[in-house]
Amino acid sequence: MATAKLDMEKLVSLCRRRGFIFQSSEIYGGINGFWDYGPLGVELKKNIKDAWWQDMVRNPPPGPDGQEIDMVGLDCSIIMNPKVWEASGHVGGFSDPMVDCKACKARFRADQLQCIEVQVDSFEPAGESKWFYFSGIGTAQDVRDKNQKAMEKVAKGRKSDDPALVTQRDYTQILPASRPKVPCPECGQVGQLTEPRAFNLMFQTYVGAIQSDENVAYLRPETAQGIFANFANVLASSRVKLPFGIAQVGKAFRNEINPRNYTFRSREFEQMEIEFFCKPADSMKWYEYWRDLRKKWYSTLGIKSDNLKPREQGKEELAHYSIGTTDIEYMFPFSEEPQELEGVAHRGAFDLTAHMTKSGKDLTYFDEDAWNRDAGTRTTNSFKEWLKTKPPKEEVEKYQYVPHVIEPSAGADRFTLAVLCEAYHEDKQPDAKGNLEERLVMRFHPRLAPVKAAILPLVKKDGMPEKAEALYRELKKHFKVEYDDAGAVGRRYRRQDEIGTPFCITIDGDTLKDDTVTIRDRDTLQQRRVPIGGVLEEIRKALS
Ligand code: ATP
Repeated sequence: MATAKLDMEKLVSLCRRRGFIFQSSEIYGGINGFWDYGPLGVELKKNIKDAWWQDMVRNPPPGPDGQEIDMVGLDCSIIMNPKVWEASGHVGGFSDPMVDCKACKARFRADQLQCIEVQVDSFEPAGESKWFYFSGIGTAQDVRDKNQKAMEKVAKGRKSDDPALVTQRDYTQILPASRPKVPCPECGQVGQLTEPRAFNLMFQTYVGAIQSDENVAYLRPETAQGIFANFANVLASSRVKLPFGIAQVGKAFRNEINPRNYTFRSREFEQMEIEFFCKPADSMKWYEYWRDLRKKWYSTLGIKSDNLKPREQGKEELAHYSIGTTDIEYMFPFSEEPQELEGVAHRGAFDLTAHMTKSGKDLTYFDEDAWNRDAGTRTTNSFKEWLKTKPPKEEVEKYQYVPHVIEPSAGADRFTLAVLCEAYHEDKQPDAKGNLEERLVMRFHPRLAPVKAAILPLVKKDGMPEKAEALYRELKKHFKVEYDDAGAVGRRYRRQDEIGTPFCITIDGDTLKDDTVTIRDRDTLQQRRVPIGGVLEEIRKALS
């Protein structure tokens, strides 16, 4: 929403009421961090994934030098050989620091547990200074607001006139000696929080009948590693040449310590990932290409650029192997800070090298074009023979090297949530008698809208239903459309506005005479008469 901040409760309620998103296993009280997409939600999310596949894999825009780029897809298994996760570093290192409350058993991510330290009487003689601790989960402001009164009380009780010194940091930054003074943000008890401990985010399972250490396997925490593990297969089977990308859309699982903010941080979610392989020397050019392209893509699908915040990670934030990473962030209404939708990372040669070392398989790329181009400079055309002449390493690496990788890694659920937030609007529109009434309208981009058009016979008689049904049958071959003949037409419009249907097509008395219909536009509310035979094309135009 452009003006007022959207109240997430309203969105959550709409999503449940109209069948976008339900709590998983709701009839049993739900399960934290898992969500189900309802009849409209599944259409919306599918449209998002299809748009991504179409725009990034089947029809990506030209590369930085205007050249066509090669993209292919994969669909890998969710459970892979556990050695994949050893090579990628997930078995050893995929962990977040976690804090437990021994009293109430609540569990928090240490870096999300906000602590406020209030020091009073700091200039009194040594020993007089007093420290008080407050805590909470949420934004810095939320935690300050929650503790405001208690902090004021402490400040009032001081002996000196010196102002209280207030600092706010996360639990990992609190001195170990002071941690026992931090109250649990859930139950308020002091001295019950544990030290931060590493917690592996991978879901573990067993493959086969016996639950032993040898049979441990993991649900993939990202789709990317399946791509790296298949790099050589794709090269050998699809005649792609560098630079090229491999894309995958699929489920990923992370046992998040603190799932929250609706679907934003879930334990089961879907990723849309690309690993783009290129020559090391060209990698910065490709990094910039993908960073800019990915940001632009969100805007073309209706996300206002004011709400999109690309953020280049600082040196201290970068993963040890990364040469550069940009997080594409979105101003979700539940946070004061922009939150990550997608990370675009320059991962260098890290992943392929790690898999090469662990598997012992050759994952280098032989640049045949470069080798043939330099044919006149050598006495042999055989690379193997040439290697026997012991050329310097830099010479060999002109022809055979580990490609660098640019990884745009997006979350399908996070983008779906951003699309829902962005689409939600309330306005006032005149009803049939001209009185203004509240309207809830989901302004989805037509490409993403779950239902593209509703076909509405004005009345259920006089041959209108037959005409409307014929149009419905024709359109549903091409798009998801709805047929609705229940209630006054104004009410039917409102129902469609609420689920974000861009077009309502009304069949009325004139249709029977001259084969024209009205098309009502959800956003402008304008109604145009068009020939019934032109409706398909009208909708197609809006979707392109
Ligand atoms: P965060 O810092 O928010 O935990 P991340 O940096 O660990 O995210 P990546 O590993 O880069 O995320 O994953 C790529 C994308 O997958 C993210 O940009 C996000 O869109 C999505 N994603 C990651 N974790 C989750 C989750 N728990 N729930 C929903 N989507 C997620």
